[in-house]
Formats: sequence, C-alpha cells, structure tokens
Amino acid sequence: MNNTEVTIEQVEQFISMLTGGELENLILVEQPKLSKRAAFCVVYYLQEEMRIIPDTFEMCMDCEDIFDAQYGYIRQSDNAHICPDCASEYRYCIECGTLVPFDDDDDDDDVCQRCKKTDS
Ligand SMILES: [Zn+2]
Ligand SMILES: [Zn+2]
Repeated sequence: MNNTEVTIEQVEQFISMLTGGELENLILVEQPKLSKRAAFCVVYYLQEEMRIIPDTFEMCMDCEDIFDAQYGYIRQSDNAHICPDCASEYRYCIECGTLVPFDDDDDDDDVCQRCKKTDS
C-alpha cells in the first residue's frame, strides 16, 4: 500500500479532535464538536476521496469504536460494520450468514428474522 501509514491510534486521536476531545499539541481557532458518527464521515472522506487514511479502519455501529475491518463483521441487515467485541454479542444466521443479535426472541433458533419470514 502506498498510503502513509496512518495508525489506528492516530485515527482515534483525529476523531477525538473532531468530537471536542482534549488536545495536547494544538490550539484550534474553533474546535469542532461533531458526533462520533459525523467525525467518522470525515475519516471516511479522507479514506475514499483523498486516500490519506487507509480504508481498513471502520467504525463499529454498535459501540462507535474504531477497529481494523479485517477483524470485524458486517451486519447484513443494514450493512453496518460491527467490531469483534460487539460481534461476540451476535450469532450467525445458519441460512444466510447474517449477524443476529443474541437477544433475538427465541434463543434456540439460529435463523435471522428475514430468513424466518421467507420460511413460513
Ligand atoms: Zn463495537
Ligand atoms: Zn438469515
């Protein structure tokens, strides 16, 4: 990859700056106070349009932490990226591979809502 190696720590610090977190070395004229999700949109732009940040970093849509996408999961119901920690709260639908939350109504049935509907 010919990107400058931006680390996950740097991305986290960048998001902290964008969300009004404390800064050690910089004084800004007007520090942004974005939501974490809005801040990640800035990161995403730097990934996709400017190619400055490697596009291997994703934000977990459950806990809003940044993680390396190669260890993450996609929740297929809404294409949300889910970090490995949060993914442990899910199980896989045996029909389609979708991540299904563990607290789904009946526990002994490993099929997602969508596959359940098409079955019956
Ligand atoms: Zn998470
Ligand atoms: Zn399914």
